Amino acid sequence: MDVESFRKAGYQAIDSICDFHYNLHNHNVFSAVEPGYLRKALPDHAPEHGEHFQDITEDYQKHIIPGLTIWQHPSFFAYFPTPGTLEATLGDLVASSISNPGFNWDSSPASTELEALVMDWSAKLFGLDKAFYNENNTGGGVIQTTASESALVMVVAARSRYTRTYPGTDLNKLVIYVTTQTHSLGVKAALILGLRVRVIDVHLKDGLSLRGCALQQAYEEDKEAGLHPFILIATVGTTSSGAIDNIPEIFTVARNFPSFWVHIDAAWAGVALSCPEHRDICHLDEINRFADSFCTNFHKWGLVNHDCSALWVRDRKCLIDALDITPEFLKTKEGEQGTVIDYRNWHLGLSRRFRSLKLWFVLRCYGAEGFREHIRKGIRLNDRFATLVGSSKELALVTAPSFSLSVFCVRAPEGVTVSQNELTLDLHTRLSARKDIAITKTYLNDILCIRFAVGAARTEEKHIDAAFELITSEARQLLASISS
Ligand code: PLP
Repeated sequence: MDVESFRKAGYQAIDSICDFHYNLHNHNVFSAVEPGYLRKALPDHAPEHGEHFQDITEDYQKHIIPGLTIWQHPSFFAYFPTPGTLEATLGDLVASSISNPGFNWDSSPASTELEALVMDWSAKLFGLDKAFYNENNTGGGVIQTTASESALVMVVAARSRYTRTYPGTDLNKLVIYVTTQTHSLGVKAALILGLRVRVIDVHLKDGLSLRGCALQQAYEEDKEAGLHPFILIATVGTTSSGAIDNIPEIFTVARNFPSFWVHIDAAWAGVALSCPEHRDICHLDEINRFADSFCTNFHKWGLVNHDCSALWVRDRKCLIDALDITPEFLKTKEGEQGTVIDYRNWHLGLSRRFRSLKLWFVLRCYGAEGFREHIRKGIRLNDRFATLVGSSKELALVTAPSFSLSVFCVRAPEGVTVSQNELTLDLHTRLSARKDIAITKTYLNDILCIRFAVGAARTEEKHIDAAFELITSEARQLLASISS
């Protein structure tokens, strides 16, 4: 494609993106396509001869759009919020127009320097301690693809620190700590690295939060058994219910465990730190004083399109010691002098995308004030939903609402033989059969729950009220069917 053809096709592409966004609410949240629909619609091999761009965009409209789940839909309440924005879309467009693998400082100074800068802006936006700023040259921030990769990289860094501190450690005896509410990223990291993992129980009576005494007990038992616990992945805002581990208690005990790393996974809820009123509940003070690393995803509730996972580490040397492999062809004058960041030593791959551009666009277009307003709006709307559930005859909250997430179940009427879990499952089945709302389910201990996650940029009070009415109406029909 020559540049003038790109200009023309680009204007058309922007037009079609705008049309899609104007019509977002007219689509169903869930697509009606059946598995395998696309293979039936498209050829089974790439074309031998290049095709016209116009034909490709027509096929995009005809075959791809109908198969989309619309995460930006105002009635999308499943999984976690992903309010990708047009600002970030433009950042991504610009970033992909400049093929720019940015692994060493000199492979594109702007790429490294913008990332280091916007990670410092973000650290300041969230109230993180100076220790995590890139400008301090001790700790620092880096954009990873996902919270899962962030956790994996932190496990690698923690393992390296532990085995350097205790040379000769039997690698088979290293243990990662997670809880029953930690995202699967902890177990996945163990799987990838061939490490043991201990899943510590947490309980509803503690708000599903990891207590210091449970950590202490696990540690003592494992040490007694000759094992080497070396990292805990603690969570601020668990996936299932938004629970927050008891970070103060965790640090009170973990500070006595030699060379023990505490990584904080705040993948979806961490962006709430932008609002000072939510910092205490997230234990920011203790995180600032003691956490080895902290991760939150801008690509979840933080207005940036996938992928943009922000990871900060207190001591960048641990990361670099673990990941730096520098063959001759990667050596540079600045890298050797240690005067620059070479981000290839901060993540798994060599090459990396220029992700900081979209984050920069978003932070500048929204400003800290606009960012905070987006977060506060999500919390307000979720509080509205939780209040409605709280006064409902058919539904009941299972845990207190957490940031932009509510978790509820069906209230089993007295005298019915069907269990509460069966009723909630039936309600979930009914809701999932609909295409006009998206919710997900989870277990909290043994209670089956429906999760309601707010945060799409277009969601307003009327969508919350409509969702509550729709859920209530399905619940009433369900309850009527079992009593008749
Ligand atoms: N951690 C938490 C608490 C999450 O809620 C999620 C996703 O829901 C993840 C991690 C996974 O994030 P990613 O897809 O970026 O790996």
